[in-house]
Amino acid sequence: MAPPPRARIPVYLLTGFLGSGKTTLLAAWLAQPALEGAAVIVNELGEVGLDGTLLGVTDQAALVSGACVCCTGLPGLEQALEDLFWARLQRRMAFPAVAVETTGLADPAPVVRAFRDHPLLRERYRLEAVIAVAGAPAGAALIDRHPEAGAQVLAAQALVMTKTREATDTDRQALHARFAALNPHAPVLVSNHADLPLDAVLQATGRGNDAQVGDTSSPDLAEPAWPDEAKHVETHPHDHPQAAGGADDHDHLCDEHGNAHDHHHAAQASFVPLPQPVARDWLLIRLHTLAGALADDLLRVKGIVALDDGRRCVVQFAPGDRRFDVRPLDEAPGPAASQPGLTVIALHADAERVSAAFLGRGHA
Ligand SMILES: [Zn+2]
Repeated sequence: MAPPPRARIPVYLLTGFLGSGKTTLLAAWLAQPALEGAAVIVNELGEVGLDGTLLGVTDQAALVSGACVCCTGLPGLEQALEDLFWARLQRRMAFPAVAVETTGLADPAPVVRAFRDHPLLRERYRLEAVIAVAGAPAGAALIDRHPEAGAQVLAAQALVMTKTREATDTDRQALHARFAALNPHAPVLVSNHADLPLDAVLQATGRGNDAQVGDTSSPDLAEPAWPDEAKHVETHPHDHPQAAGGADDHDHLCDEHGNAHDHHHAAQASFVPLPQPVARDWLLIRLHTLAGALADDLLRVKGIVALDDGRRCVVQFAPGDRRFDVRPLDEAPGPAASQPGLTVIALHADAERVSAAFLGRGHA
């Protein structure tokens, strides 16, 4: 017999397009009551995990890397949740909740379906909230260009608009308009530098503390209403005249039965290793060369680089950013520290093209 909903482990699914600020927000939320002591599953497209390092979690974190949880990585996510369940049951781990951070390209719908269809997930876990994050400066353009970004908005119960201070009024209004068109009933909250408490998000969805504590009545009513399949399928493939790549753009969407195999994302992740310390100026020149060569195809740069002054820095770039963000890495280098180098996510660019573009070889 399945345990009642309240006895199941709550799961918070955090999604959002590449560079929208998911990791920053999750890092702050992990210190707040709803997620204190939570196990974290980080899903990254690149083979080299970085978000776990940035989140500062090691003990209770599982990494599903090199695959995306909405497609090839879904079995990995299911396995990670099964492993966590058994570890908790056998008291090898203790955690009150699980937070799942998807890749920036993930469509949350197949993950949501897994919590309904997968026997162990259905019986032992309760999907508490699906939250989508979108950066205000580039959010509307990304939704127009990438079906995944729209799918994230569509599947969410709460929408978080980040980086509003870096956006123009026009940017913000455009993103509000996309939110309203895709998911008019989801509350929209604003966060700058992760100043939005998770509890405010849960309250906005009607699933805050008050509803959780001691709520044993009407468990069925507490079950969230998920977007239905028809809505999910219908919203993807059309209305994206600017989408690059033609037929490719349809491949990475899930089919109507929710099968996660056989589809992929038009964008891919490549890793540029930088095993030796480099000069900061050299790094900045290389990053600008990369950005110039890949132009709009460049979706994300993220990595940890050792500088020749002995420091390590975190490099980040997201669509809509005016410049690369290069800042010292705060945390003491732990044993799980990432391999130095840059994960680059781009459209129409394999590792060879990315590497050539970074090194300025030829006109990639
Ligand atoms: Zn995927």
